[in-house]
Amino acid sequence: MNPVHGRSDDLFPDAAGSAPYPVAAAAHGPAETTVTAEPAFRTVPASVDAPSPGSPPSTAPDPAIHCRDLVRIYTAEGIEVQALQGVDLTVTRGELLAVIGVSGSGKSTLMTVLSGLDTATAGSAVVAGHDLMRMTRAQRVRYQRDVVGFVWQQASRNLLPYLTAAENVAMVLGLAGRSGRRARIYELLDLLGVADCADRRPEQMSGGQQQRAAVAVALANEPELLLADEPTGELDEASTAAVLEAIRRMNEDLGVTTVVVTHDPEVASHVRRTVHIRDGRIATETMRRTEVGPDGRPVRIAEEFTVLDRLGRMQIPQDLTESLDLKHRVRLTRSSDHLGVWPQRQGWEEQQ
Ligand code: ADP
Ligand code: MG
Repeated sequence: MNPVHGRSDDLFPDAAGSAPYPVAAAAHGPAETTVTAEPAFRTVPASVDAPSPGSPPSTAPDPAIHCRDLVRIYTAEGIEVQALQGVDLTVTRGELLAVIGVSGSGKSTLMTVLSGLDTATAGSAVVAGHDLMRMTRAQRVRYQRDVVGFVWQQASRNLLPYLTAAENVAMVLGLAGRSGRRARIYELLDLLGVADCADRRPEQMSGGQQQRAAVAVALANEPELLLADEPTGELDEASTAAVLEAIRRMNEDLGVTTVVVTHDPEVASHVRRTVHIRDGRIATETMRRTEVGPDGRPVRIAEEFTVLDRLGRMQIPQDLTESLDLKHRVRLTRSSDHLGVWPQRQGWEEQQ
């Protein structure tokens, strides 16, 4: 059974409010010696697998999640939708990762594939040593029951309405046949800050309390991975902060690898690593770390990286393609330590 440690709230800055230290976007990177127009805050790592400053090394052995070229194509009434178009993602054990992206970008598709509820069309996905592309039906059922915990956006999907919070957790523990159930139920509810709701049914709890109870239910089987798909999507600001703080505390205390989908940039700004999905691919990653500033106070540093895949593909953010008139063809110029990306020269465009 997982020990529940004392809480240290100073580890978890208030999610909805301002951070207790100054937040600064890092202006960093090699000194510019050429005339390329790259903004200082965007840098491109040498390779998607190269460790980035402040990030755990993604080549660490046996990661919790390892996806390569993950593709999911839906076909409905003859129309093909490429929901995932080659996702490369590595998540280390114990990491708390936020996934952001506009509606329709593929976030839920990725979560349902990782949860074992859906199967990708192509590519590879290994979670805690389980190859999701090669599981038998029985293995898939066991995987869903024992390896992953899932929290849906709709609280009503997470909890049975006629059972109390404690009974909802007990149901899962019962299925898993664990002993010491009563202590474990209260330990989990307490960890999520809803021990006082143990004897309440969902309708007697607020939306935020229901979602925190839902996390307790998802953790009951001691999963290796917790997936939450917009768990705060239906909550107000204060409840959102409470749920996310509870998730951060849980991740810190129990070390359960956690992936949270959110469209709230404020939320994403309080986790160490955020991946941004665009059109079914991971377009950028943001790493955050805390450093001691010149005045001795901690300063939060955020760096946004454009993701370069193994085939050398990257997505140039739309604001840059538009403002620099980059379209269809661009010219690359090589310097000793970076590439320049230039719009196609006028004369060439007319000749083609
Ligand atoms: P998000 O969670 O980021 O809003 P989704 O993963 O739900 O995005 O959807 C990605 C794309 O796949 C969207 O274009 C959506 O319409 C499509 N899609 C999702 N599920 C299905 C499905 N079962 N059948 C057909 N298309 C789907
Ligand atoms: Mg979704």
